[in-house]
Amino acid sequence: MITDAIEPFIGISCSAGIGIGKIVRIKEKSFNFNGSENRHDSDVETERLKRAILYFHDLNDKLSKRVDSSLGERNGDIIRSHNVIIDDPEMNELFYKFIRSGRSAEEAVSEVCSIFSDMFGRIDDPIVSQKKTDIEDVKQSLLGVLAGDFQGEDEFEEGTVLVGKSIPPSLVSKLENGHVVGIVSESGNAASHSAILAKCLKIPMIMGVDNIFNSVYDNDEIIVDAINGIVVIAPDDDEYYFYKKKRKEYLQRQKELEEYKGKDTILPDGSKFAIMCNITGNADVKKVLEADGDGVGLYRTEFLYMNSDSLPTEEEQFATYKKLAEDLEGRPAVIRTLDIGGDKEMPCLELPKEDNPFLGLRGIRLCFREKEILQTQLRAILRASAFGNLSILIPMITDIGELLDFKELVDKIKKELDSEGISYNSDIKIGCMIETPSSVFIAKELAEECDFFSIGTNDLVQYTMCADRGNAGVSYLYSPYFPAVLRMIREVAKSAAGAGIPVSICGEAAAEEKLLPFFIGVGIKGLSVTTDMVLQIKKAFASIEPGSTEKIAKKVLGMTREHEIMSYLREKL
Ligand code: PEP
Ligand code: MG
Repeated sequence: MITDAIEPFIGISCSAGIGIGKIVRIKEKSFNFNGSENRHDSDVETERLKRAILYFHDLNDKLSKRVDSSLGERNGDIIRSHNVIIDDPEMNELFYKFIRSGRSAEEAVSEVCSIFSDMFGRIDDPIVSQKKTDIEDVKQSLLGVLAGDFQGEDEFEEGTVLVGKSIPPSLVSKLENGHVVGIVSESGNAASHSAILAKCLKIPMIMGVDNIFNSVYDNDEIIVDAINGIVVIAPDDDEYYFYKKKRKEYLQRQKELEEYKGKDTILPDGSKFAIMCNITGNADVKKVLEADGDGVGLYRTEFLYMNSDSLPTEEEQFATYKKLAEDLEGRPAVIRTLDIGGDKEMPCLELPKEDNPFLGLRGIRLCFREKEILQTQLRAILRASAFGNLSILIPMITDIGELLDFKELVDKIKKELDSEGISYNSDIKIGCMIETPSSVFIAKELAEECDFFSIGTNDLVQYTMCADRGNAGVSYLYSPYFPAVLRMIREVAKSAAGAGIPVSICGEAAAEEKLLPFFIGVGIKGLSVTTDMVLQIKKAFASIEPGSTEKIAKKVLGMTREHEIMSYLREKL
């Protein structure tokens, strides 16, 4: 059935790509067996449940191995995690206790899983609440096995787009044969297992699309633009051909980029040019590894505070940073201490109202005023540094005194940890964000006192050009191509080289491919970009003519107009 033209639906792109196909609506299976009056034979029900769990296990083992072999080792872990859930001793104890009290196997599974999923659902954290979805998924699958209706294979026709209120990971994990070309759901987010699996399988997926399920019919034509988060139902000819072309171009671009995975980015002097990633939480680490990033160049820790009603404790932060260090398997991670203020507020700390928040109590200034918050964070980072390659980055440095006070505080905490017998990396590196004009002018002195620089162009541009980064009215001035900004970057790189410390760029300008030859030419040693830009930058790196960068940088530094610099660099790449 073809629906009359309806307005496009909007959602969150969770697995990039464009899918064009026909809808199959996924109705939620709902087996609920609460509150039956009958008593059941507990021996029979125990045996039924044991067999069902064994079958479920076996199926998941086969499925996870298949996913590992087709998508690479450890991708099947998501499916294996369902076996871990079903093996949970507390859960099992409760299953059989409920059965002994006269419930059927179905009733026991339904009630016990609901108890556990409610428990996780009450925790306000996207990663933990994901566990609720997993338990619900395990529950429905196990009930399906008990009902004898467990589907082990993908039976969808070629060119299918699944649309559901929710799409469970157990379903996504079975979509290996390429028949399903898109997924749309009302619930879920990019951190959900369904989204992670969809990404592994390269199936375009959009989640968080309100009210789509009851607005469409099976076999409707659908376009899933999971680059922009747009879902088009019953496209007209123009829309169809537009998206078909877009899809072809996208696939071509992706194919070209894949070639850059594992490619080295070596500078003419033989040193490695690091392409790292900016992340806002541990959920992004998987993306860093998938994107072939060299590590985390900027961990914006303020999101740990902004998403919480109370300040994260030392233990919570320690667990987070330790997991970060371990999950990166030896790759480095630069943890920036809390950078709150400016446009970022946090519910767990009342900040004074300021007329000019970007020029106010921001970053390190606020942390020195709220020293306990900083101390707690530093203790957590130092403790986690024993488990991997972590370093510390200070935001909003404007004066050498801030760096010296910070180092003194780190030394004091190291002594405390020594006296408590707690291990940490005593050689942990401390770096400065260079994002204010004052830090540029004292870069030489800062470089003598710290271990590395990371240039934050987002703020450096705003403070240098006096153009608020969020004000559209002055956006014509908010550009890293202005000579004032580029000359500052050159000065910072010179100061870093003079002191023999590495310097990289972590603001959005790092992802400006056109600027890459300039950055290399002035001596920048690495970039930190969003995960989706890593391969793009690698591609740009490979296209640079060896030995040309110094000449390009020199030419740019002699130019006076932003638009001239931009068009010159466009020509060069
Ligand atoms: C920057 O200023 O460039 C930067 C990376 O920090 P943020 O964007 O978090 O201010
Ligand atoms: Mg900044």
